[in-house]
Parts: sequence; structure tokens; C-alpha cells
Amino acid sequence: MSTPWHVLGAGSLGTLWATRLARAGRPVRLILRDAARLRDYEATGGLTLVEHGEPATWAVPAQTPDHPEPIRRLLVACKAYDAESAVARLAPRLAPDAELILLQNGLGSQEAVAARVPHARCIFASSTEGAFRDGDWRVVFAGHGYTWLGDAAHPVAPIWLDDLCAAKIPHEWSTDILTRLWRKLALNCAINPLTVLHDCRNGGLQQHACEVATLCAELTDLLERCGQPAAADNLQQEVERVIQATAANFSSMHQDVTNRRRTEISYLLGHACKAAERHRLNLPHLHQLQQRLITHLQRLGLPGD
Ligand code: NAP
Repeated sequence: MSTPWHVLGAGSLGTLWATRLARAGRPVRLILRDAARLRDYEATGGLTLVEHGEPATWAVPAQTPDHPEPIRRLLVACKAYDAESAVARLAPRLAPDAELILLQNGLGSQEAVAARVPHARCIFASSTEGAFRDGDWRVVFAGHGYTWLGDAAHPVAPIWLDDLCAAKIPHEWSTDILTRLWRKLALNCAINPLTVLHDCRNGGLQQHACEVATLCAELTDLLERCGQPAAADNLQQEVERVIQATAANFSSMHQDVTNRRRTEISYLLGHACKAAERHRLNLPHLHQLQQRLITHLQRLGLPGD
């Protein structure tokens, strides 16, 4: 039998991956927080993926973190702020040749996870697929996209990419995954916090072009100083293109705030500001943006980290 996929976190992306792998006949196990979540899941009978308006349910088997089965392949599908502690609980179950695929947005959580499991291979992912939960154990496939996967330490692609082909998960093995993650982080820093502070759709930032341009200039300096010149290339142009192409959308951070959910700020703008400090780079507008955003979140009663 082929190696099972253990999926940690049955939220939007975890469900999107688990259901497509199960549909392709690949063995999948969900790892849920605790016995109460497991009981709730089992009472529901499976995970539902809604694609093109059509729901389909898959009875993917589930377990709690203390289940005895060894783990060889782990898809980490928690939020960035949960990933390290969730993986730490599973460390005793990891086989000597275990591989982890980290789906978290931003940067910082991947290194924290890798430090917890130094013997495992950690593969970083950057995805443009979009999904959201419209009920417990039920996810809507909202935006078709692509997932880039890569391992900055070992450029050889893993054999299980075949499973992704079989599951029709569009993907590409990337030899510059850090560049992709930095580029996405920079786009996020230039757009998402301002959409929260101005309470607008992405297109609303066309009224704040100077503010966006100033941030892009600082982010370009940062990327270059961090040894990521390719991620800095034409950043402002791409930010403007994204703002135009997604003008009608609310950013993911804006959606988190609207739904009173914790944001991933520490792994996005927070990570950028920390990197700037480490490199003794003075980026006043980026720091001011971080302070304004933290104050705004705290005023709303949301965590500032
Ligand atoms: P999500 O819907 O909130 O799902 C996260 C899941 O992790 C939840 O089901 C949560 O469980 C579970 N979890 C947290 N701690 C756990 C633990 N200790 N043990 C077991 N399960 C645990 O998040 P998401 O939207 O899928 O996002 C995951 C990551 O992908 C984020 O970094 C996000 O930025 C990135 N991403 C998301 C999308 C998207 O379209 N959604 C696109 C690109 C990138 P409960 O259900 O019990 O709370």
C-alpha cells in the first residue's frame, strides 16, 4: 500500500487536499485537535468539498494527535501561528524518513517547525488556490490556482508528486521556493494591512497610490538586503497589477478581521519588520504600518500578533 498522507488540520486547505487525495484513491488520515473534535467529525460522517456548486462527501478516516500510527508524510494545514505547537505534539510519531509539507502563508513558521523536527525533511509550499469553510467539516473550493513546492536544502523532488498528479492538485516543484515565499510576503505587506486600515476592497487602494508606492520602495530595499533580489524585481508594478486584477476582492486579512478571526500578521508584516531590524535597515513606513495595524486590531479586541 502507498504511504498514507496524514493531514494535520481539517480546515480550508487541509480539506481541499484531503478530499482530492481521497477521491484519487490515496490513503489519507486526518489529525484533529482532540477527542471532542474527533467525535464531532465522526458524527458528521466525512469531509464535504463543494466544487462548482456541487457538494461531495468523503469519509476520510480521522484520529487524534496521540494515535499510535507512525507518520511518514505529514501535510501541515494549520494557520502559521498554530503550526509549531501542533507539529511538536506529533514529533514522537514521526518515522525516521518522515517528510512534512508546510502550507503556511508568510515566513517564520516554517523555520520554527523545522527546528522542532530536525530529522524530518521539511518542504515549503506557496499556494494560490483558494478555499473557505461554509460550515463545520465543509469547504468551498473558491479559487483554482497553483501550488509551488520546494526544499531550499535539497533540490531533488520527492516521489510523491505523482500522488498530486493523480489527485489533480496543480503543482510545480520549485528550486527557488524562498524567493516565491518572499515575493508573496512582500505583496501581502503592500496590500493587506492597508485594506484593513482603510476598510476597503483591494481596488480601494488605487486611492492610496502614494502610500502603496512608499511601502513598495521599502519592501524592495528589504528584499535586496535579505539576499532576495529576484523577489524584489518590479515589485511595485506587480503590486499595482494585483490591486487592479483583484479590485473587487477583500484581502484575506480584511476577511479575517471582518470575521473576527486572528490574523497571521506576525508571519507577514511582523516577519518583514523583524528581518529589517536584524539587517539594521531603517524602514520607517513599514514599522509605522505595523504599529497602526496592531493598534487597530487591539482596538477591535483581536490579537495584535
Ligand atoms: P483554517 O481553515 O483556519 O484551518 C486550519 C485548521 O487547523 C483548522 O481546522 C484547525 O482546527 C486546525 N488546527 C489548528 N491547530 C490544530 C492542532 N493543534 N491539531 C489539529 N488541528 C489543528 O485555515 P486555512 O485557511 O486552511 O489556512 C491554513 C494555512 O494556509 C494558512 O497559513 C493560510 O494563510 C494558508 N493559505 C490558505 C488559503 C485558503 O484559501 N484558505 C490559501 C493559501 C494559503 P479547528 O477546526 O479545530 O479550529
